[in-house]
Amino acid sequence: TDPRTLSPARLPEDVDAALRPKALDEFVGQRAARENLRVFINAAKARGEALDHVLFFGPPGLGKTTLAQIVAREMGVGFRATSGPVIAKSGDLAALLTNLEDGDVLFIDEIHRLAPAVEEVLYPAMEDRALDLMIGEGPSARSVRIDLPRFTLVGATTRQGLLTTPLRDRFGIPVRLQFYTVDELLRVVTRAAGLLGLGIAEDGAREIARRSRGTPRIAGRLLRRVRDFANVAGVDTVDAGAADHALNRLEVDALGLDAMDRRYLTMIADIYRGGPVGVETLAAGLSEPRDTIEEVIEPYLIQIGLVARTARGRCLNGAAWKHLGLTPPSDVQE
Ligand code: ADP
Repeated sequence: TDPRTLSPARLPEDVDAALRPKALDEFVGQRAARENLRVFINAAKARGEALDHVLFFGPPGLGKTTLAQIVAREMGVGFRATSGPVIAKSGDLAALLTNLEDGDVLFIDEIHRLAPAVEEVLYPAMEDRALDLMIGEGPSARSVRIDLPRFTLVGATTRQGLLTTPLRDRFGIPVRLQFYTVDELLRVVTRAAGLLGLGIAEDGAREIARRSRGTPRIAGRLLRRVRDFANVAGVDTVDAGAADHALNRLEVDALGLDAMDRRYLTMIADIYRGGPVGVETLAAGLSEPRDTIEEVIEPYLIQIGLVARTARGRCLNGAAWKHLGLTPPSDVQE
């Protein structure tokens, strides 16, 4: 099986773009976020202003990039995208900012990974729509202020807490994205199947939705793989049986966990007797970066109640032992 099938990270072969909803009304789920954005967008448009800066935060694959594009479209403005690690020098950001057109949305993915010197440039840009440039060197150096076009910065990050306080404070509209419910993912899968021209029965779509880790990107990816199995088997309408068969072949279990999730759980169970164990220890044991564990693997396992994050480290809950088919050591209290 392709170990990346369940990874929510964006992959080069991803045809995410094809499945992206284009308007707020087409965007499934995240009701509170959608309704608030609708109000702020309408108000800004009525006043003829640029939308205040927006920060989307939440685990990968929940729709941050998609929403950023929708914001631009709904505002009727241009969309420019970059990401934190790509902007190496403050001059790169200055060039980006001075090339914006009036009202544009500038999307910065992984905004928590901006270099400190680059972030400094962002503060006056966000607050006063200005760029402070140093001209010359030594005693004759002076700072010149350049006005920027009106723009909306849309930042995306996995956790709000990863941002420095001054940066976080400059976003007028912070929006937290949540994992999707099975019913919401059912709509995502049904819609995507329609776009892919794949026949799917409701129970087939529900099976994929249940096993997508609450994440639309994973739902889209699993749907494509299920389609491959269906095509090869000559199945023209995917039902629950066909979906289950394909997902089992992909080693996606009944809870939607993949091999990596199970390695993580098994390590805590077998080696640390259910924890507590520190995240650094787990990262070393699994040979995965700490960030991946904290931002990609753990949020869903915590959400569905398999794992608890405590001050002393990670612990397995009773449900995790049960899911692994193991008995907790007798002295471990649930
Ligand atoms: P993020 O930026 O949070 O990592 P993306 O915006 O790139 O996530 O979304 C990943 C994929 O999931 C895209 O293909 C997108 O079409 C799909 N997707 C995300 N949210 C939704 C949604 N609410 N409805 C339908 N599809 C969605």
